[in-house]
Amino acid sequence: MILPALTEAKSPFWRPIKYSLFPPLGLATLAAYCSPDDSIELQDEHVEELNLEDEPDLVIIQVYITNAFRAYDIADHYLLRGAYVCLGGLHVSSLPEEAMKHADSIFIGPGEDTFQEFLRDFRNRCPRPVYRNKVRDIASIPPIRRDLIKRERYLVPNSIVVSRGCPHHCDFCYKDAFFEGGRSFYTQQVDAALAEIDRLPGRHLYFLDDHLLGHQRFASGLFAGMKGMNRVFQGASTIDAILRGDLIEKAADAGMRSVFVGFETLSAGNLVQSNKRQNIGRDYEEAIRRLHSLGIMINGSFVFGLDEDDPDVFQRTVDWAVKNSLTTCTFHILTPYPGTRLFSSMEAQGRILHRNWDQYDTRQVVYKTVGLSAEQLKTGYDRAYRSFYSWANITRASLGHDNPRHMIKHFAYAGGWKKFEPMWNFMIKTRGLNKMLPLLEAILSKVRRDKAAPSPFPAIA
Ligand code: SF4
Repeated sequence: MILPALTEAKSPFWRPIKYSLFPPLGLATLAAYCSPDDSIELQDEHVEELNLEDEPDLVIIQVYITNAFRAYDIADHYLLRGAYVCLGGLHVSSLPEEAMKHADSIFIGPGEDTFQEFLRDFRNRCPRPVYRNKVRDIASIPPIRRDLIKRERYLVPNSIVVSRGCPHHCDFCYKDAFFEGGRSFYTQQVDAALAEIDRLPGRHLYFLDDHLLGHQRFASGLFAGMKGMNRVFQGASTIDAILRGDLIEKAADAGMRSVFVGFETLSAGNLVQSNKRQNIGRDYEEAIRRLHSLGIMINGSFVFGLDEDDPDVFQRTVDWAVKNSLTTCTFHILTPYPGTRLFSSMEAQGRILHRNWDQYDTRQVVYKTVGLSAEQLKTGYDRAYRSFYSWANITRASLGHDNPRHMIKHFAYAGGWKKFEPMWNFMIKTRGLNKMLPLLEAILSKVRRDKAAPSPFPAIA
């Protein structure tokens, strides 16, 4: 089982630590359907040199858009060696005809039902060329084969997914292409999710679900069950779920200390253009105040290059993020992924510049822009990152909290993440990333409110 490296992960301009965060959970999930007698090796090119000189019976490769060409090379290599090669993943589901040329079998959509079917057919020597997912159900999936994961090579080995998909339908998102023709949001049983959590050592967890708060009843049950578990965790949510009811308070009680939020844009017109309905008319700043009052740090996600953006959008967005004390930000250049509604509409308007998937990494402009030039978009995007993560802005954003302990945590988290590259590279080289976990857990530990504590810092405008 192979996860080939994303093209950008091998670039000298990008940070190795970003690609050593999470193990390949999807492949480890499929591995659970194999027989205990099968000998399986799970290789992740982000954290190790691939051994391609072996002679396996079966090769399963996970394909994302920016590792597609690398994945096809590896697939062709193994086809020549006589192995049976399967390709699956987001890119294969978006462009099955392209992937088919490099595989004996491909998987379209989630693989939990089709992979079992394939294994039966493979053992009976009658596998089909295409397996298209039909059953959308993860209520009774077997425990993930975490024993295949080289834990010490990842900063966050305890990543976990307890649902599939998301209830929303943003035009730029892969989700609808991947889950086409059936349910596009479903969860595990609460008890099974809690049992999976119980199997993970240590305190820290990272939920990789698209929307951890997306299913009210499931999330409530999960957080209630986690309450006594002494965990700290990170996950993703939409603005509307943060503002609705008291789910976010339950998440905080269960140990949520940081949340990834797709703000995407500060422009209402851009939200309409991208069908991001769950953000339209929502009070972003109210959601931020609520998260900060619960001691939850925020990783804000923003997209640049939507049609209403003008050359000032970069500074405006960074100023807003700093003023609102977002701990970290993830900026993207709008990228029309094949299979999405955004891609279809841009293709119909003749705005797709090329199909060099290696460049579809959300850091390069691959479509004809409106409102600002491609060069303005690229330089503005780079400048936004530099500006948000300058020491001056990290300090300003940290000082925006009303609790001194939050200020210190914010400063440590943002500074530690972005400003100590040689240390991260050293930890990766010496296979010591795992040793950073206690520090991460300490930074994410609960801040107790001390009403009498005055701020040691002067107020800033
Ligand atoms: S909310 Fe996020 S995961 Fe859901 S459709 Fe929109 S971009 Fe995709």
